Amino acid sequence: MINNDNYRGITQLAKENQAQLVAVTKTRPQEAIQQLYDLGQRIMGENRVQEMVEKQANLPDDIAWHLIGHLQTNKVKYIAPFVAMIHAVDSIKLLQEIDKRAKEANRVIPCLLQFHIAQEDSKYGLHILEAQTMLGDRSLRELKNVRIAGVMGMATNTDDQAQIQREFQNLKEIFDTLQAQYFADSPEFKEISMGMSGDYELALQEGSTMIRVGSKLYE
Ligand SMILES: *Cc1c(COP(=O)(O)O)cnc(C)c1O
Repeated sequence: MINNDNYRGITQLAKENQAQLVAVTKTRPQEAIQQLYDLGQRIMGENRVQEMVEKQANLPDDIAWHLIGHLQTNKVKYIAPFVAMIHAVDSIKLLQEIDKRAKEANRVIPCLLQFHIAQEDSKYGLHILEAQTMLGDRSLRELKNVRIAGVMGMATNTDDQAQIQREFQNLKEIFDTLQAQYFADSPEFKEISMGMSGDYELALQEGSTMIRVGSKLYE
């Protein structure tokens, strides 16, 4: 089910760029995830809470489960005990809920701020001014059980490589700005999660530290 050659090629390229591969396993059966695991893959990305909870219960304990899709506040409690990273945080309300549930689970959960970089209409993702308002808020500093570990974004679904490149460059600039402004003394703010099956090479070229690749692993 997994295309071994594609898997090896993608992990190799990620490694050469000091980036990590999040193997996106949403909608894929547990056998496919086990196959990835047997090839050495440990970071899996899911976009639905229910599906991630079920898979986590049935697969090896040392898999790092990354939630890459939109997360509703009322579902945070189901994943707080085990989730390794939450990629798509776009409100302080969500961050507060993650903090509360992480505290109950006696954990600190790394989170990425999702930015709206595509030209497509989307309900999700912050603009830089919103993020600056959020990060400047004192109440944020009281959240001890979340760690803001970087940024995440999705480029427009287009064949226009120049446009995708500009969008990735934009996310990198947002990362650099926020790092200088709010995280100069925080080495844990280090991740730029960008790049999927169609554009991960470009993303790596533009500074991605985490590519989220799904379909290309199974072709
Ligand atoms: C599905 C998904 C991916 C992977 O997409 P592919 O094109 O299958 O590689 C990456 N990021 C997010 C947020 C996704 O939902």
